[in-house]
Amino acid sequence: MRRLFVLGMAMVLAIATAAGAVAKTEQVRQPTPAAVVAEHLDALNACDVDRLMAQYPDEIKILLPGGVTVEGRDDVRALFEGFCQPFPAGLAGLQFTELSSSKVQKTVNAQWKAEACFLAEPYLGADAYETWSGLMAAQVTTFDGAELKINPDWRQDCGVELWFQTTAGPLGADEIGNVLAHHHMFVELGDATPEDFLSSTPEEVYEALAPWLAEAKALGAGSFIEFTPFGVGRRPDIVKYVADQADLPTMMVTGIYREPFVTDDMPGWVYGASVDEIADFFRGELSNDPGVGGTGVPAGFIKLSQNDTGMTLTELKILEAACTVAQETDATIASHITSGPTALSVIEALEAFGCDLDRYRFVWIHTQVTARADGAKLEGTWGSGHDPGFDYLLAAAERGAYLSLDGIGSQFWTDFYGGFDLNLGWIMDLVTAGYEDQIIVGSDTGWYDPGYPGEEASWPGSQDYNSILEFADWMAAEGVSPALIEKLMHDNPFAAFSRP
Ligand SMILES: [Zn+2]
Repeated sequence: MRRLFVLGMAMVLAIATAAGAVAKTEQVRQPTPAAVVAEHLDALNACDVDRLMAQYPDEIKILLPGGVTVEGRDDVRALFEGFCQPFPAGLAGLQFTELSSSKVQKTVNAQWKAEACFLAEPYLGADAYETWSGLMAAQVTTFDGAELKINPDWRQDCGVELWFQTTAGPLGADEIGNVLAHHHMFVELGDATPEDFLSSTPEEVYEALAPWLAEAKALGAGSFIEFTPFGVGRRPDIVKYVADQADLPTMMVTGIYREPFVTDDMPGWVYGASVDEIADFFRGELSNDPGVGGTGVPAGFIKLSQNDTGMTLTELKILEAACTVAQETDATIASHITSGPTALSVIEALEAFGCDLDRYRFVWIHTQVTARADGAKLEGTWGSGHDPGFDYLLAAAERGAYLSLDGIGSQFWTDFYGGFDLNLGWIMDLVTAGYEDQIIVGSDTGWYDPGYPGEEASWPGSQDYNSILEFADWMAAEGVSPALIEKLMHDNPFAAFSRP
């Protein structure tokens, strides 16, 4: 919470400075110490900052845990403006109830509990309210936001409306059908010149992909998540055209791939860019204008990637920018990572940036590689670390991450990673461990790659979109419950990739 307080204060102080002055509020005196406290709690529960400020003299001091004192009306106002941001940026809606109180002269000592839809359990604490002449002269509180136990289902329980942002507009959970949760329409990974993606035309790509998309729809696909981020030859204009022609609502992403970037479309500016400049790029792509690549379609989420050898400084900078924007938009961050230790270090970095996974969503993509590994890759040896790869998935799930198994039925990822039996085994192990709401399935198939000229949809191992739909049918035949299949094909991708 101290972090939240500080963030909120910085933000509000910046706004206040820009506006020229902090608004003055007249002070309103209460007849008794008990009335001062009652008014304070009522105003706090209503998040009415003007009413809170009406109780504070110029010399107000609020003493927080950890040696933090907030002093003076301007800083106290900023504190409460930050507190009263909607969750998770702030804690608006937190309801304080007095459990007991006693008075020593004009000081009221109270035990209280705080409750909210975004808390997993009530939070207990105590305050000393030092009143004087009907005002709140000072407060000493045990309140520490870091101690709050967050309800992982807070979006649903707090009634946050969520939408799948697609080429067909924002869609609700009942409008997306079975989700092709990790596939591609267009990418350039090929060995031709890294600018070939610039000369591809929407018509030629649609001609190549139309039969595959029609077949996927016939097999029950209702929506498509196009996973190609900046740095691997992205063409959002082509994806929009293909999705519209195929009449298949398609989510596009913002985000920047790991080093080395495959194509020439961005590295020049990212290496020299600040966190704020990268955040601005994400912000624009998550909005209607300009939207992803200027298409006017807002990105559904932020897709990144980090190296197996650990994050580079550039990747860390990109991750910080993504966290900043996730805090503003509640957009999910997803990342292609094929190393367990890197995945855990990304989660730790997100927490250090203020994107704890109980408040914000993170999807670890390509977990099949780590699940299949004997353990972490070790330096200077072909051997593996002692802990099995799958344990890294469990550790990430315990921290709150979604786990994407997304090479299912893919010839590129081969049976070694993509076998139906193998993947169902991992899924059932995750279900048994209690993580059935955190599993995403996909095939990572597609796509049109202009880097392989002369071939139709030209990536070696390029493949239609059927295998994940066939996997769903196969699971049903294997006796997997319809409810679990529905979670994997619909509920979980909606929960993971939707936005307010
Ligand atoms: Zn992919």
